[in-house]
Amino acid sequence: MKQLFCDVCRREVADPVPGRSFFFQAQYDLCEDCRDDLEKAMKYTVRTKRPFDSGWYDSLVLDTIKAGIARKKIEAKASR
Ligand SMILES: [Zn+2]
Repeated sequence: MKQLFCDVCRREVADPVPGRSFFFQAQYDLCEDCRDDLEKAMKYTVRTKRPFDSGWYDSLVLDTIKAGIARKKIEAKASR
């Protein structure tokens, strides 16, 4: 069986099922946890941005994943 590792947290995804236990997002493989984190991070950022534009959305997804890879964890950017 092919081994699959999450690009963000580097954990092995046991029994990888596309769309269920791992997700292909902007050329990266994300496990379920990291995808949830990405979704939270995006939700938080998208709320502050108007109008919605798929151009910045896609590059934001990519930036968020890249930052997550550097930290091995995707974090919602809370501006405190
Ligand atoms: Zn992960």
